[in-house]
Amino acid sequence: KLHNTILELKGNIRVFCRVRPLLPDDGAGTESSVISYPASMESLGRGIDLIQSGQKYPFTFDKVFPHEASQQEVFVEISQLIQSALDGYKVCIFAYGQTGSGKTYTMMGRPEAPEEKGLIPRSLEQIFQSSQSLQLQGWKYKMQASMLEIYNETIRDLLSPHRLSGSDPVRPDNGVSGKQYTIKHDANGNTHVSDLTIVDVGSITEISSLLHQAAQCRSVSKTLMNEHSSRSHMVFTLRISGINESTEQQVQGVLNLIDLAGSERLSRSGATGDRLKETQAINKSLSSLSDVIFALAKKEDHVPFRNSKLTYLLQPCLGGDSKTLMFVNISPDPASVGESLCSLRFAARVN
Ligand code: ADP
Ligand code: MG
Repeated sequence: KLHNTILELKGNIRVFCRVRPLLPDDGAGTESSVISYPASMESLGRGIDLIQSGQKYPFTFDKVFPHEASQQEVFVEISQLIQSALDGYKVCIFAYGQTGSGKTYTMMGRPEAPEEKGLIPRSLEQIFQSSQSLQLQGWKYKMQASMLEIYNETIRDLLSPHRLSGSDPVRPDNGVSGKQYTIKHDANGNTHVSDLTIVDVGSITEISSLLHQAAQCRSVSKTLMNEHSSRSHMVFTLRISGINESTEQQVQGVLNLIDLAGSERLSRSGATGDRLKETQAINKSLSSLSDVIFALAKKEDHVPFRNSKLTYLLQPCLGGDSKTLMFVNISPDPASVGESLCSLRFAARVN
């Protein structure tokens, strides 16, 4: 009974926790695992315990994926949610966690290993396949994708042709083209970002070209600007409009997949100039996101969407009958236990 009440209160917000495996580069002391899973029936698959300095901190989420969960196993649990974007829902899926906790692995995966593909390629494939079979019932779909980055409260176009051919991947067409990337929401709840590159994804060829571009962004991040990518939010958006030619029914769905900036506590002391500005921008946007989700879950009258670019951009996809899922990504590295506790507490607040 109590459980039901909590679910009602939460509305359309779910939180999944995913623990990545230990990596060779993780710190020493790996013999003492800081993560365990409660064995009780009621929290099976939903509970996680973190042990810090001999103290146990228990948490419960809608789902907990231990380190051995495969990309496919994770996808199975969200494929319904992805499908609802084809039915006309607005969906947001976030990956939250410190740098190195598995956010990009969850969202994009390893493109070079097909079984390690992440949510973005799997979602595109599923949506494409479903739209093909729905054609038999008279449905016609138009799908368009965009990919942007929010860095220091400034939008950058990740699919810009300038960026891909440009010589400076850290400063894609910014300042060069004078593009503004202004966010506007129209009366129908559609969001427009001026000057943003929008690509059609109506065929397998277009999908693989998009994924190739996306993977290119990621590989650039990995080598040249690993630092930079962990300090910006990446927002992948797929807009789906469907019309049924026999019934004239129409649907407009949106799927947003968001790889958030690293949540590691960034101290203000010591940081100066650009670094301080960067730090403040990340702290502000992550706390704004939590404030917005919290206010929505509590059905508060005032939801502070305008406090950050990210929440303002996603405003039409966060309220109303839209659906939100947050992954909290956790590193099992004992050296990260303090950050992991912070992430679990953040997630528990929005859960
Ligand atoms: P983040 O984006 O949060 O900074 P990454 O997704 O880049 O973290 O993950 C850090 C490292 O851990 C990468 O080498 C990634 O391939 C690996 N990794 C993350 N999650 C998993 C997982 N579930 N299984 C295997 N390797 C993973
Ligand atoms: Mg990353």
